[in-house]
Amino acid sequence: MRRASLATLFTILAALAFQRPAPNRVRELAPGVFFWQGDRETQRQTNIGWVVFRDYVVVIDANFPWGARDVLPEIRKTTNRPLRFVFNTHYHADHSYGNVVFAQAGATIVCTEACAGESLRKGLKDTQNQAKERASEPIIPASLRFETELAFDDGTQRLELIRMGPAHSAGDAVAWLPKQRILFVGDLAVNWELGNNVGDVDADHANWINALARLETWQPTTIIPGHGIPGPAATLSGQRAYFAEMLSAVTNAIATGKSADQLARDLDLSRHRPFAADPARVASQVRTMYRLKNRR
Ligand SMILES: [Zn+2]
Repeated sequence: MRRASLATLFTILAALAFQRPAPNRVRELAPGVFFWQGDRETQRQTNIGWVVFRDYVVVIDANFPWGARDVLPEIRKTTNRPLRFVFNTHYHADHSYGNVVFAQAGATIVCTEACAGESLRKGLKDTQNQAKERASEPIIPASLRFETELAFDDGTQRLELIRMGPAHSAGDAVAWLPKQRILFVGDLAVNWELGNNVGDVDADHANWINALARLETWQPTTIIPGHGIPGPAATLSGQRAYFAEMLSAVTNAIATGKSADQLARDLDLSRHRPFAADPARVASQVRTMYRLKNRR
């Protein structure tokens, strides 16, 4: 009996341990600058940041609604200031569908004009693709829009939102903290073994490579990717080298009449880690890049 109840207790404790979110999901990167690690296992794969200003908070990327609902109490543990703004690095649902949660909490949604246009044109389809049966909540496009640059500066913090697209999408922008040299890049760079999505209909791979090179010249010390773990500046140069080699191979293949499937079989990009860690995903990216480039 006693042994049975101990076993039961152990089972309950083990179950509780598995239900708890991973520890240390939130990191303070610099005073008032926070990062929440996305979690692919629970379809909350997009990283979120927030910057605490004197009178308000700016959130960087919104995740899905279920991710946003998880993050809200985590933000509340770090500050009681109002969530005034939520910036979407781009319109993809894993970065912007959670806008609905932050808007209900009183925030104004911010992104580039191009991003807002993409949200209207392609947001529903992307949300249905990604969220499947959970795509029943409203899509909230940005109401505060900027063409190329918007800065928040209250003397304590300075946060610059700067358009870099078309790259991963048409309207990509990054969030840059020049004093702390922290750069939130959205999906211009990822730092995990699952690769990146190169298949947006408005992706511009050549300009994407240029955008990464331009970001490197800012000499950031901490890169917060859209997905995966924070990294040093080499996260940018590594992602750039990977895409540059892929794009030049794709361009060559098209010029010489080699098929996408043949190229995907022949091209070995495995030295680019972690970006090319999964050969099947690399092959799929090669075929996608080929298809988009050949269309033009
Ligand atoms: Zn994306």
